[in-house]
Amino acid sequence: MKIGVPTEIKADENRVAMTPSGTFEFTKAGHDVYIQKDAGLTSGFPDEAYTKRGAKILPDIESVYQTADMILKVKEPLEREYDLIRKGQILFTYLHLASSEELTKALIKSEAICMAYETVERPDGSLPLLIPMSEIAGRMAVQEGAKYLEKPFGGKGVLLGGVPGVRPGRVMILGGGVVGTQAAIMAAGLGAQVILLDINLYRLRKLDNILPANVTTMFSTEMNIRKLIPKQDLIIGAILTHGAKAAKLITRDMLSDMEPGTVLVDVAIDQGGCMETSRVTTHQNPTFTIDGVVHYGVANIPGAVPQTSTLALTNATLPYALLVANEGWKKACKEQPNLTPGVNIAHGQVTYPAIADTFNLPH
Ligand code: NAD
Repeated sequence: MKIGVPTEIKADENRVAMTPSGTFEFTKAGHDVYIQKDAGLTSGFPDEAYTKRGAKILPDIESVYQTADMILKVKEPLEREYDLIRKGQILFTYLHLASSEELTKALIKSEAICMAYETVERPDGSLPLLIPMSEIAGRMAVQEGAKYLEKPFGGKGVLLGGVPGVRPGRVMILGGGVVGTQAAIMAAGLGAQVILLDINLYRLRKLDNILPANVTTMFSTEMNIRKLIPKQDLIIGAILTHGAKAAKLITRDMLSDMEPGTVLVDVAIDQGGCMETSRVTTHQNPTFTIDGVVHYGVANIPGAVPQTSTLALTNATLPYALLVANEGWKKACKEQPNLTPGVNIAHGQVTYPAIADTFNLPH
C-alpha cells in the first residue's frame, strides 16, 4: 500500500503522524511511504531521516493526497484539504467529527474511509490512541502550573518542592484518571504536597495503593473542595464525564477563597472546562487573571512538546496503522476489533452512530 504523510497545517500543530522508525516498519512490510517535504522537521525529524529508512519525499500536500492509498495524519483535515481527499482513500487521524458538521459533510462527500484515532476503543472502554496525549497533558499541567506560580508570571511565588525548612507547595488535582494520575506523579516527584479527588472510589483505592506518600486521596464533593481550596497553590482540573460537558467544580465565588497568585490549570478545557471562570487559551497567550487568580486553559497542551508527543502518539498508532496497511481496513477491523469503532465514515456513509445522531444523519 502507498502511505502518505502530509505536513500538519493547523495552527500550533507541530506533530507528525509517522517517525523514521515507523517508516522503517512500513517499508519492511513492503509498503511505500511518501512524506511531505519537512513534515517531520518540527518534531525533530529532517527529511533525510525518512529517506534513509526508504521513504520518498514529495514537494507539497497535493502530491501526497494524490499518491497515497492511506493518509496518516495527526489533526483533522482543514477546509484546504477537503477536496484533496479521494474516493476510497483511507484517512487515519484524529477527527473529532462530533464538533464539526462541516467536516463530517465534507468527509461524507469525499467517499473516503475515515478512521478516527479517538474512537478506537478497547473492550474495557479505554481509548488507546487518546491515552498518550492525556499522559502528556497531565505531566505538563504540573510543569506549566509550577512556572505560572513564579512571581514574574503572576503566581504567588511558591516553589512546588519547597526547600529544607520551608513547606512545599500544595497541589489539588480534580479527577484521578489518566491526566490526574500523571499530574499527581509529577507533582509528587517535585516534592509537592498533593491531594487528589475523584468520585470513583475504586479508582481512589487503586491510586492510594500506588501513589507515593506525599499524595493523599479524597472523595470529590463540593464541601471537600470548598474546604481545601484556601490552602492550595496549584489546582488542576482533570475530570471527564464521558460524552458530556465537564461539571463546573470550581465556581466563580470560590475564587475569593483562594490566595492571590493561586494557579488554576484546567486541563478539561477541551471538554468545556471544569472551572466556571476558565476559557480556552493558546500556547502564545496561555494565561489570564481573574480576581488575582491565574488561569491556564490551553486546549492542546501536548502541542508544546512535539518531539515527545509525536513519539508518544506514533508508538500507539503504529500497530493499528500497520495492520490497516497490511490487511486493508475491512480485514484489519475483523482481526483487531478495537479498530471497528474507529471507522467513522465509509464510502459516504456515517458508520459511527453517535456522530450520525449528532447531525441527524442516517447510519
Ligand atoms: P479519564 O476518563 O481517564 O479520567 C477522568 C476522571 O475524572 C475519572 O477518574 C472520573 O472518575 C473523574 N471524575 C469525573 N467526574 C468527577 C468529579 N465530579 N469529581 C472528581 N472526579 C471526577 O480522563 P483523562 O484522560 O484523564 O482526561 C481528563 C480530561 O483532560 C478530559 O476532559 C480530556 O479531554 C482532557 N484532556 C485535555 C488535554 C489538553 O490538552 N487540554 C489533553 C488531554 C486530555
